[in-house]
Amino acid sequence: MRTSPLAAPATRVVLALALAVAIGTSLAAQGTTSASSEVPDLGEPTAAPDGAPEHLKLIDRQGLAEHAYWLASDERQGRFTSSAGQRATADYVAAHFKKLGLRPLGDKRGFLQKYPLTSVHIAKGTQLSFGRTKITTGFAVLPSDDSFKASARGKFAWCGNGTGNSLPSLKGKIPLVVLHGLGSGTGSGNDLRAIGRYNAIARKLASKGAAAGLICLLDDGGSHANTLSYHGLLPDHPKLQFGKGGRRSQKMRIPLFVINGEQSRALFEHVGIELDGEGEPKTAPKNNKATGSLKIQVKESKKAFSTNVVAVLDGADKKNEAIVYSAHHDHMGERVDGDAFNGADDNASGTAGLLEIAEAFAKGGPRPSRSVIFLSVSGEELGLWGSEYFAENSPWPRGRIVANINIDMIGRAEGTDEAPKMQITPSHGHQKYSSMVRDAVELGEKFGISFTSGDQYYQRSDHYNFAKHGIPVVFFCDGEHPDYHQVTDHPDKLRYPAMESIARLAFWTGWNVANANQRPKELGRQSGW
Ligand SMILES: [Zn+2]
Repeated sequence: MRTSPLAAPATRVVLALALAVAIGTSLAAQGTTSASSEVPDLGEPTAAPDGAPEHLKLIDRQGLAEHAYWLASDERQGRFTSSAGQRATADYVAAHFKKLGLRPLGDKRGFLQKYPLTSVHIAKGTQLSFGRTKITTGFAVLPSDDSFKASARGKFAWCGNGTGNSLPSLKGKIPLVVLHGLGSGTGSGNDLRAIGRYNAIARKLASKGAAAGLICLLDDGGSHANTLSYHGLLPDHPKLQFGKGGRRSQKMRIPLFVINGEQSRALFEHVGIELDGEGEPKTAPKNNKATGSLKIQVKESKKAFSTNVVAVLDGADKKNEAIVYSAHHDHMGERVDGDAFNGADDNASGTAGLLEIAEAFAKGGPRPSRSVIFLSVSGEELGLWGSEYFAENSPWPRGRIVANINIDMIGRAEGTDEAPKMQITPSHGHQKYSSMVRDAVELGEKFGISFTSGDQYYQRSDHYNFAKHGIPVVFFCDGEHPDYHQVTDHPDKLRYPAMESIARLAFWTGWNVANANQRPKELGRQSGW
């Protein structure tokens, strides 16, 4: 689920930072918040409720867990839209659809549907080198423009915290700034303060003739790692724009190259900075002759793209009409410290649900009357881009899409396994409340699932792009929790027995809609479910 569009964008970044290493080839990246990657044995699925379609048995906790662990593993690198991890995820989903014998509904008779983006990204060759160390990953760049080249080669020039009044001339030098004591504050105010500080440093260094600045995060900066993920550029983590959506990168007076705590300590050794007991610099560099090379190149591309994955199971009877199941598979990528936003609940859980629901429709029994489209989108976290593109460029006539069932974050229900508590929108208090939502809530009782209103999320996930076109929607969601949009959203925290019930409920809801004589009806605001 995306952060609230009403709040300042920076609220999506909140966090304390764990140490990780990503220096050249000498040290391997290792996210310290990673959980076990072993899929646990979860035992047998529960018996399906009386009267349930026979397909339901194919949706089970073990299958959900296997998908979720794959999707939320460190290897997916947080599935940032357009990144290698996201592309691998799209391929995984496409392979699953193919195996199920679903009909591709993407471009050129394939499962992938491309949509265009522009990107501002770090070009290859951007690196800091000193001694035998080459830093080519695990850094961030705060750029000065959408497209530029900057380099500095020579001595490192000690600049303290970068805003002092007695800085040396920095022409032809690499200004070395150490940021520490950044605190662990969170939220947009904190984020703006961090960016304000970077801006002040860039102006100061520029006034002394520097072409670029080097910032060493020392205590890893509290929430700074998240700030950099959002406002800066990281390798394979560009600043993207979709149509008018998305934000351009923050432009600094001169580009800043920001390295993480582990990398900083390696550099301190090279230049002879000693640290005190608190791990803060005790002295200016002792080795006045230490040199290095900093190269930064940022490029703008108008030809970037990302992909949705889309497939259909043709209906048996009213096959010209379809319902669409959707779940986003993208998430927030990695941080400057190399730790990934694994996004187990957000939204490996819903993607796992989508894959299992597709399997149940394709292999679990007779076909439904209407067709069923399975849509796995990217670009959700950046502004619901993939679903917007699908809705605007639908490979299925939009007027013949009778409903959208969207699942985003279904792994962290409150309550017990036998009685999970979930949120649903549009609720009975919403103008767009429909017979489909009413029926889903009623069916929920068969699984012990109770619902409260999720109307605060009505505009915050992919169903909204269907609702905008007057298509009835239902959104299943567990709501925000302490691991929401944090690097601690891990697959071992998902509640697979409850997920099994919720995914089965989503199946059954769609099954009924796909077989009903009438399309779902808007009911308007009601006093109760
Ligand atoms: Zn999200």
